[in-house]
Amino acid sequence: MRQRKIPLRKCVACQQMMSKRELIRVVRSPEGDISIDLKGKKAGRGAYLCGKASCFKLAKKSRALDRALSVTVAPDIYDQLEQDFIKVEDEFIAGKVESSDES
Ligand SMILES: [Zn+2]
Repeated sequence: MRQRKIPLRKCVACQQMMSKRELIRVVRSPEGDISIDLKGKKAGRGAYLCGKASCFKLAKKSRALDRALSVTVAPDIYDQLEQDFIKVEDEFIAGKVESSDES
């Protein structure tokens, strides 16, 4: 068994536990803006989603982000995030391939 500890986070849509690098972080800033945080460095309350558009759609349908961020996320914010999500999906997958130094 591997000794290296991989921090696990739960996808708020499908409830699967995964390592952080496989998840996309959505963050609510102290100002209340909700955005996608690819680098995982933004301040604020975060929620994690699998790097898949299908999981975002699930989150939108079940309003999982509302619960995870304890805030009401307006439908147009979900729409905006979904577009951003699809945009970053490619970048995210590319970055994952690049940094797959283990496994
Ligand atoms: Zn998921």
